Amino acid sequence: MKEAIAQLPAGIRDRLSQAGRLADESGLDLYLVGGTVRDMLLGWSRTDIDLVVEGDGMGFGGRLARAAGGRCTPHPRFLTTTVDLPEGINMDVATARSETYERPGALPRVASAPMDVDLARRDFTINAMAVSLNERRFGDLVDPFNGRADLQKKRVRILHNGSFIDDPTRLFRAVRFEQRLRFRLERGTERRFREAVAGGMVGNLSGPRLLEQLRLICVESDPWPIFERLERLGALSAIHPALASDEGLETLVREISRTGGPAPSTYDGWWILYLVALFRPRREETLQSVVDRLKPNRRLRRAIEDMSRWSRVEQAVESGAIETPADFCRAVRTISEDTMLFVTLTHPDEGMRRRCESYYHKHRHMRLSIDGGTLKDLGIPVGPEYGRILDEVLSMKINGEIGTADEERRAARDLWLRLHRPTH
Ligand code: ATP
Repeated sequence: MKEAIAQLPAGIRDRLSQAGRLADESGLDLYLVGGTVRDMLLGWSRTDIDLVVEGDGMGFGGRLARAAGGRCTPHPRFLTTTVDLPEGINMDVATARSETYERPGALPRVASAPMDVDLARRDFTINAMAVSLNERRFGDLVDPFNGRADLQKKRVRILHNGSFIDDPTRLFRAVRFEQRLRFRLERGTERRFREAVAGGMVGNLSGPRLLEQLRLICVESDPWPIFERLERLGALSAIHPALASDEGLETLVREISRTGGPAPSTYDGWWILYLVALFRPRREETLQSVVDRLKPNRRLRRAIEDMSRWSRVEQAVESGAIETPADFCRAVRTISEDTMLFVTLTHPDEGMRRRCESYYHKHRHMRLSIDGGTLKDLGIPVGPEYGRILDEVLSMKINGEIGTADEERRAARDLWLRLHRPTH
């Protein structure tokens, strides 16, 4: 294991030694755990480091932050402290704990416990290893479930037969790790997986817990194989029958991945686009029952529900009721940005996609150079018509009929004159 630590970037290695020395001084046992150990053994680097202390993890987290010049955020409910170090490394310091499940799918009851008990409550063998950081045993691997061998055999294996029943979120975690690492579910684990799904365990999860699992899938670099595998194992339709994947879904998810997500950019909702793809045009009652089941937050609910409003706009464009870019803008202005980006990226019809692109990238950002003050300077009496005039001028600008500030002023004046032209 010392070789794996030796291969870490020097900055991380030094921080781990520093934390180990501090644990010695505090008379505590300190370990690197979970995904951090897994990725280290795979030779993958990461900047979020999970540490576990046998004893007061929160107190130790505070001391570590002070010693390392970092910022510390305690989370008393989870007996953890996050330490953000100045060089961009994040350390999560937890108290070694036991977790007991009072009923399937419920959140566990947590109490502090020795390290071996902490490892035994974990999800998969590859995530149930620890590495000692105290100076005397620095680099010693603690691997009670043979996780290292499973890493070599490229398999995801649960620690005990009741694992998926205790916590059905592990069904989604299992497939996420399987596909991310290009591993396979171990045979017995797959059998328990199918039994848990057939036994209705997904139904024991609350909407928000399920949705968090879906979100975690969507922020992976390639979500499609995860969705596909979940569906083949029956877990997607177990959330809601309407979520069974199909060929259309593959195209959409791949199109979203191809065009950008989930790379960070000015847009922070790539994961939402995948979920919109999953929930896309279904009958409104179906959509409503999916929303009732998953209880999404306001932004996601709006993005999903606005798909129905988009369908109506689409029909209006097809029937010719919406023609100009300005009409289109007016019709979609109150549709969620997420929904509009989704259709912009994925609409199968090229003409419609171009219309959406113009709206999303250009027209919705268009502003006038004139305002109420300009109208006043033009001698137009202050009144309720200001709104209408400015709106009309903006429409002309969106439609490309005018461009410069002078043209805007002229158009505003003409409109006012037309509104007030005596009628005979
Ligand atoms: P990632 O690379 O996605 O961050 P990770 O393994 O670090 O993966 P986390 O969700 O951050 O995953 O969890 C950290 C560790 O906590 C896991 O490695 C695992 O040991 C444990 N863990 C997380 N969720 C569960 C769960 N539902 N049941 C049991 N153990 C869990």
